[in-house]
Amino acid sequence: MTQKPKKQSSRNYFLVFSGFAILLVGLFVYAANFQIAFFLFLACGLSLSIILLLSFHRRLAQKQSQINIQKEEYFEKANVLKADIEKEWKSVESFRRKIVNYSQLKELTEKLSSSLTLAETSQAISSEVSQFFSHKDNTVILYLFHSQTGEMGISSSQKGQLQVNIKSKNGDIFDQHVVKTLQPLLIEDTKKDFRFDIERNLPEDSRIIRSVISGPLLIGQKALGILRVDSAVPCHFVQEDLRFLLTITDLASVAIENAQLYERIEDMAIRDSLTGLFLRRHMLNRLEEELKRDLRGRKSLAFLMIDIDYFKKYNDAYGHVAGDIVLKMLAAILQECFKDPGNIVCRYGGEEFCVIIPECSKDKAALLAEQFRSRIEKQVFVLRRQNTSVSVSVGIATFPDDARMKEELIFKADHALYQAKKQGRNQVCVA
Ligand code: GH3
Ligand code: MG
Ligand code: MG
Repeated sequence: MTQKPKKQSSRNYFLVFSGFAILLVGLFVYAANFQIAFFLFLACGLSLSIILLLSFHRRLAQKQSQINIQKEEYFEKANVLKADIEKEWKSVESFRRKIVNYSQLKELTEKLSSSLTLAETSQAISSEVSQFFSHKDNTVILYLFHSQTGEMGISSSQKGQLQVNIKSKNGDIFDQHVVKTLQPLLIEDTKKDFRFDIERNLPEDSRIIRSVISGPLLIGQKALGILRVDSAVPCHFVQEDLRFLLTITDLASVAIENAQLYERIEDMAIRDSLTGLFLRRHMLNRLEEELKRDLRGRKSLAFLMIDIDYFKKYNDAYGHVAGDIVLKMLAAILQECFKDPGNIVCRYGGEEFCVIIPECSKDKAALLAEQFRSRIEKQVFVLRRQNTSVSVSVGIATFPDDARMKEELIFKADHALYQAKKQGRNQVCVA
């Protein structure tokens, strides 16, 4: 850019000099031929003019190079300013993103604080995280350790607005890595990550998983589970995404622990502490619900009342503590015999138990009750190296054949139980 004007000015100089030289040569020729004094005067004037012109030229060149340096400096300053503006824009953008993230976190906190049960809490977490990482190819999975078995299983999973079914219920190699290390994990591309041999450990899912962020849910040193987001797109997540996910796992861990605590307390309120069976109050509520449902569906429901025979004598013979052990073991057998989903097994009070069997005929209930009675009859309770045994009597009534109200149904079953006692105990009687 600076070359062109230089060429232009040197050409102009050349033209001026040429014109000037032609004129002078003319004058010289004229002066040399006619007046020598005029010639000398002209020669002096010319030399002076040339000296002046050269000095002007040098100053001009100096000025021009100064201007060029200044121009460069301005260009440099402009570049620095441009970089500063870009940096400012980036920080404005990052602030904007942070504000959005904080408002999303606020929303999550509000949702978590209004969720009581574990199911509600899990659902709130996965749906909110799905909104944070809202790309259509993202899947959010929340794994939790089972409080009793300790096994890890999916608590909720979401893709976009929908809940999805994930085949690898106990987690894949990426989840196992997080469980083992209890450290956050970012996989930019599953096919290029040297830590995982994805070809040999293909996830059960046919889903394509190319990038993953995952963090453990921790309360102190105790792991509650894992929160993970994966994507079918490689290099979909960056360190910042993982950092944000970890902020969520901190909030989620506290909410999950609270929900688990709430469920444990709620469970304690409806379960008998000795046997772990439901308490009578809970059974009555469930019976009412079941009766309403069966009335609509015109289905039969069986109600069993069970009482241990001569239990007072047993207590007298072996002591109250031994009696408690028998109650506990008998309750476990009862639960096993009536373990079908939908059945409600309860400690009615003292040494009396009851079972609600929805959608069950009287004959089938009698058969199941007989199987239970015979199992208890054969069961040996070893107490203080002594083989002991008990027997049970069972009374059965069914809805709607024997009764249409819960109180009447219980009364009829109790009456059948009384019959069983009257007829010699250790037997099943139907209303
Ligand atoms: P039957 O039912 O055959 O007529 O005789 P039974 O001796 O079982 O009848 P009863 O209802 O008179 O006595 C029930 C006994 O159950 C009284 C009590 O000592 C015992 N029992 C009730 N609750 C518990 C408990 O929680 N632990 C123990 N160890 N015994 C209990
Ligand atoms: Mg009894
Ligand atoms: Mg009794």
